[in-house]
Amino acid sequence: MIDVFLKAGKEKSLARRHPWVFSGAVEKLTGEPVSGETVRVRSHGGAILALAAYSPRSQIRARVWTFETARQVDAGFFAARIGRAIARRPRYWPGTGQRLVHGESDGLPGLIVDRYGDTLVGQFLSAGAERWREEIADALLVATGLTDLYERSDADVRQLEGLAPRSGPLRGAPPGTTSIEEHGIRLAVDIARGHKTGFYLDQRENRRIVRDLAAANPGMQALNCFCYTGGFSLSLLAGGASHVVSIDSSGPALQIARANIEANGLDPARAEWREDDVFNALREMRNNARSFDLIVLDPPKFAPTPASVERASRAYKDINLLGFKLLKPGGCLVTFSCSGGVSAELFQKIIAGAALDAGIDALVEQRLGGACDHPVRLAFPEGEYLKGLVLRRD
Ligand code: SAH
Repeated sequence: MIDVFLKAGKEKSLARRHPWVFSGAVEKLTGEPVSGETVRVRSHGGAILALAAYSPRSQIRARVWTFETARQVDAGFFAARIGRAIARRPRYWPGTGQRLVHGESDGLPGLIVDRYGDTLVGQFLSAGAERWREEIADALLVATGLTDLYERSDADVRQLEGLAPRSGPLRGAPPGTTSIEEHGIRLAVDIARGHKTGFYLDQRENRRIVRDLAAANPGMQALNCFCYTGGFSLSLLAGGASHVVSIDSSGPALQIARANIEANGLDPARAEWREDDVFNALREMRNNARSFDLIVLDPPKFAPTPASVERASRAYKDINLLGFKLLKPGGCLVTFSCSGGVSAELFQKIIAGAALDAGIDALVEQRLGGACDHPVRLAFPEGEYLKGLVLRRD
């Protein structure tokens, strides 16, 4: 096995069980590993620290499979890790839409697996996950007893690993129309063409919280920005909102959202869908002096890389400032960031700046995170990418 020697002092993060080796930490290699090959990571002094997947193109040069350096990284290894990840899922959420494997948190860097009904959807996002794709696919079918696994390895991050996008059936049949149930609401999932693996499971518990907020103030006027297929919109209506305006730039997502209203027997007259850029729509509504009792802001990842955090901060501030301006006194702003590079602390600072500029005083009533089947491994705080605040205008 090829050895990767680290520079002096660069073993510290591995000693804390963080699973990434950055390119700048590598001193020398004893060979030329191919993409995804398993390598042995050694300290400057030669101590064996971990077995990892090598990624020759990525800034994250190696991702640790195991710190138990006597272990074999083979089909059995992946079967065991996948079995373990799936075994803990019933404790989290027993429903029909589940995250089964959450990357580093489940000891499988670069692997995401979601289950929608009887279909598995996998994203192989790192060189290592790609190398073991067939073994992982087989292990997933054995562990779940299912037969259909669709691949959605078409996320942008594959580029950073030097991997081309790929999607299509990996095992079994292509997906038909699929839907899941969430807190009594039926939601369609477009596995082949939807965002990510088809749906945003990470907001599941937050959709429930928003529904409860609607129920606490029956008959409210609400606004859901970046609504995708209408998850928060349906939650608001099911909670008792009398009217919900929902905005997204994706026409296909809005089509599904409309169908979701029908499928749940909700009154389409209470749901207004707008295909538009949220920044424009919010400005226009502000100019028209519109106002709402509750506003959800769930934008896409504005900061996909650490270098884009500053620009992203301005974008978060912009939409939240407009959000505050459209909020009625006593109303609620439920605001999110899913940018890993924007910490919860920074996010709250940005929001505080937005409130100040809007001339509004608000209270943090709840702090929100990702759904419980997206657990965060203590040694890997990067896993905590989704953060949200429930703010009440004073
Ligand atoms: N809240 C949703 C998930 C939102 S994901 C849920 O619970 O399912 C972010 C959404 O923002 C995507 O649907 C994307 O189409 C949309 N989007 C991205 N940029 C946008 C923009 N500038 N204006 C409007 N929508 C945008």
